[in-house]
Amino acid sequence: MTCRLQHPAFARLPLNSSHPPSTNAASVPIPKEPLSLGGSLQLQRRDGSVLAESNAVKISEFPPGLMSLHLSRLFLIPLSSLPSPFTSGSFVETPISFAMDENMKPREGVEATSDACEKYDIVIVGAGPVGLLLSTCLARWGYKIKHIDIRPEPTKTGRADGIQPRSLDLLRNMDLKAAIMAHKPAKVYEVAFWDPTSAGDGIHRTGTWASCPSFVDARYPFTTLLHQGMIERVFIDDLNKNGVDIQRPWTITGFKTDEKADPEYPVQVDLEHIDRKQKERVRSKYLFGGDGARSFVRNQLQIAVKHKDPIAYVWGVMDGVVKTDFPDIKMKCTIHSEHGSIMVIPRENNLVRLYIQIASSTDKDWDPRKTASEEEVQNSAKRILEPYSIEWERVEWYSVYPIGQGIAEKYTLDHRVFMGGDACHTHSPKAGQGMNTAFLDALNIAWKIHHVEGGFADRSILQSYESERKLVAENLLNFDAKYAALFSQQPPAAQHVAAANEQRDQKGAGEEENQFIKTFKESCEFTSGYGVAYGPNALNWSPSHPAQSNLINPTGNKLRSGRLLINANVTRVVDANVVHLEQEIPLNGSFRIYVFAGKPSTTKTAIGDFARNINKKSSFLTSYLRSDIDTVSHHERHNPHSHFFTFCTIIASSRSDVEISRDVPDVLARYRDHIYADDIWDPRAPEAKAAAHAKMGLDEEKGGVIVVRPDGYIGIVTSLVEGSGTVDALNSYFSAFCTKNLSEHRAIL
Ligand SMILES: Cc1cc2nc3c(=O)[nH]c(=O)nc-3n(C[C@H](O)[C@H](O)[C@H](O)COP(=O)(O)OP(=O)(O)OC[C@H]3O[C@@H](n4cnc5c(N)ncnc54)[C@H](O)[C@@H]3O)c2cc1C
Repeated sequence: MTCRLQHPAFARLPLNSSHPPSTNAASVPIPKEPLSLGGSLQLQRRDGSVLAESNAVKISEFPPGLMSLHLSRLFLIPLSSLPSPFTSGSFVETPISFAMDENMKPREGVEATSDACEKYDIVIVGAGPVGLLLSTCLARWGYKIKHIDIRPEPTKTGRADGIQPRSLDLLRNMDLKAAIMAHKPAKVYEVAFWDPTSAGDGIHRTGTWASCPSFVDARYPFTTLLHQGMIERVFIDDLNKNGVDIQRPWTITGFKTDEKADPEYPVQVDLEHIDRKQKERVRSKYLFGGDGARSFVRNQLQIAVKHKDPIAYVWGVMDGVVKTDFPDIKMKCTIHSEHGSIMVIPRENNLVRLYIQIASSTDKDWDPRKTASEEEVQNSAKRILEPYSIEWERVEWYSVYPIGQGIAEKYTLDHRVFMGGDACHTHSPKAGQGMNTAFLDALNIAWKIHHVEGGFADRSILQSYESERKLVAENLLNFDAKYAALFSQQPPAAQHVAAANEQRDQKGAGEEENQFIKTFKESCEFTSGYGVAYGPNALNWSPSHPAQSNLINPTGNKLRSGRLLINANVTRVVDANVVHLEQEIPLNGSFRIYVFAGKPSTTKTAIGDFARNINKKSSFLTSYLRSDIDTVSHHERHNPHSHFFTFCTIIASSRSDVEISRDVPDVLARYRDHIYADDIWDPRAPEAKAAAHAKMGLDEEKGGVIVVRPDGYIGIVTSLVEGSGTVDALNSYFSAFCTKNLSEHRAIL
């Protein structure tokens, strides 16, 4: 649906997965006089042809207090002027423009006063990775967003370029991976280590290591290297399609939260064009500071930044096209030589990035302002790479920057104004984590805001944003300090290298590992993004969770609350496509409930009881049914009952043996695109007949139920049993953070 109704009640309306193109978003004040718009909206192409027809939107159905209609490149045409029955669109593939009845035109150039403020669900400051991912999620889920950035355009050169495997999963889940891959990024599968030769005549390769080794079960075991600006544009295009334009070059000049003055929109935000001629004052439910390392939002809140590692470095970074006989120029390399250290990162379009250390606070003559010219860095690189030669055909970007580690002491003070990304944590870019961590910060807060504003979850879940994400940042900084220090170490003298080699020979090839390589290997799970593990809280079940049942965490279960769902291949029953189970539900903001149904012959009663019990009054299903459930399209794949959750059913049989109408109860069969046969062999569970069950550690005969949070992390795992136990356990789990009393199981938080 392209007509996006910016009101909480409509935030849960299905948004079109094809995301109509749009740049002319506008907010239309709701007319005082009720209009019979049912049959009065129509989507037209520029040539006037009707694009889509539906009677899904009726003004008479708008709830009291609706603030605005948010339209994206639509024609809004009064019924009276239409010769035929009217309609609103359901999907758009051709850009269409925007027009509307004269008295419904949006307000432009708002010179707002405090009592006539435009209201938003969220104001997002900063259109770097963290702000963009947050905005993209919330725009897709129907929220009204004011998104500003101080820069007139997205990142032009420099900055991040490494998308880690877990982030690529996320981008795929958002249907953005293809757009990233269309830029033909470099893919790093292996890292090569180079050290001085024992003869002292330059450098030699001492080993290679998989960028994401096979012990990490990654769908994409490589790092994707692409310029940050291109990555940002992929998000910006998606935002435009969903009616959000980033307002540039605008800055934030002040904000305050006052729940008493306006409990619904408690945050007042002052914004200003950088020419200082235009100002806006808006009200919002939330403010998000994604405004980078020098965050205005953080400074205003007077949140201190703790510097963990006292050691600082000055690094030069150069993106360019080179001519060289260095054999690993298309690999990621860490090179130590007697003349200094360098890191080589291949990029798209024959570009290569070189990181070169210029100074360290451990140097005797340490000067944090030490710098080096482009030419000096190139000369230094030439010396480091000897006996190989290197010349630059072109330098695209060169910068010298100091690296200091820092972490904000708080990510929010009032759970209305939040921060994420570099505003909260900074560290060296060498492990390629900043943008990736920023993405996951945004994802974490996005779904929590959605569940609170969607009326599903208690506001208290917002507290888990800081506790979950700050711990990840702390771990990142610890890792980074170790990694950066090792990388910056002076290489061992030639005789020490020879001695180490001798030692290796004695120990046997493969046993030798210098500290740097050892740290690198140990850290692969972490750097790939799969190492993130959220601690116990209301969302991530642990023995101290309010939900208690002996069905929780069944014996043999290999899943861990707070960690990602294990990958699995299954066959989709309706079309016999072999699919990646963990990707089947798009990032739709819903909890993902995977019913591993085991063998139908064994679990017939259990699965029937499961269905009966979720259909009972006050279950999590019946308590959060969509208000428009009677008009939900037959083709709604993911949220036919509720935007709170999506169900998947995985049956331990071959596809040809599955008969949905016989084996799957109606309530689960409603998700017919999410019924799978567990019949694909997997090398990680070679003996298993039902490999997906086996990988999860669930009994192939009896199955089990896995609840995965909207961001892909496991909430709870239960057995699937006859009777009400399984649903009781789930009701009890959701009760820990839901807004409603589920089967009298309301737990104390
Ligand atoms: C040389 C280099 C290489 C890197 N390589 C990698 C890598 O390979 N992988 C990786 O994951 N990370 C890497 N990083 C880190 C990565 O660039 C950052 O961690 C990431 O950009 C953080 O995203 P962010 O959205 O939090 O902040 P930023 O990207 O800094 O974005 C902040 C945005 O806020 C805007 N802004 C600031 N102040 C205001 C204001 N007052 N009003 C409005 N807007 C404002 C800015 O214009 C900017 O667009 C690298 C960084 C550098 C410097």
